[in-house]
Amino acid sequence: MEKSLSAVIEDYLKAIYKLQAGTGKVSTSALAERLGVTAPSVTSMISRLAELGLVRHDRYRGVRLTEAGTRAALEVIRHHRLWELFLATTLDIPIDRLHAEAERLEHTLSDELEERIDAVLGHPRRDPHGDPIPTREGTLIEDNARPLSTLDPGTEGTVSRVPDSDAAFLRYLTELGLVPGRRVRVAETAPIAGTLVVETGGERHAVSSTLASRILVDPAAE
Ligand SMILES: [Zn+2]
Repeated sequence: MEKSLSAVIEDYLKAIYKLQAGTGKVSTSALAERLGVTAPSVTSMISRLAELGLVRHDRYRGVRLTEAGTRAALEVIRHHRLWELFLATTLDIPIDRLHAEAERLEHTLSDELEERIDAVLGHPRRDPHGDPIPTREGTLIEDNARPLSTLDPGTEGTVSRVPDSDAAFLRYLTELGLVPGRRVRVAETAPIAGTLVVETGGERHAVSSTLASRILVDPAAE
């Protein structure tokens, strides 16, 4: 199915927002890679977005969202994360399938339905992957979480955030019980071997530090 122009624009704004948060400077090639499109099509879409007042682009600072662009990006991120939580809690869709469904649904949500979903879910601040849901005003909750790989042996905490779009990885984490809300304790670390032994739900699992670096844990949370 061909995407509508507004859906394409929203995907760009979301991608720029996420790249900006990660690396600061957003290049045309980074955007092309993230969106799976060619550099020339990114270049022409960027000038279109600039005309709409949603981005600014210069050679030194790369592509940046304007205030209007940031608001629009947060709106679509809000839709995406509300849908993920709604699908998980009301339709029982498994965690590894939420992202793909929300990628489609995020572009079609009326203000009325958005408000209704938000209210039914009790004005949630996090989606099932632990990602913060922006409020209507565009504010996000703060994160104190740290990568599981950086915790010392004996440290305990609550899994607060896992990557949302890697379905195979999410299925594996579900098997291990390393999903948001679950308690986890670092039992042993073997830095040279690059592994950790973690305890969760009364079971011990050896995981690689690469895997553990993708799981955020809030050591303070009960
Ligand atoms: Zn997602």
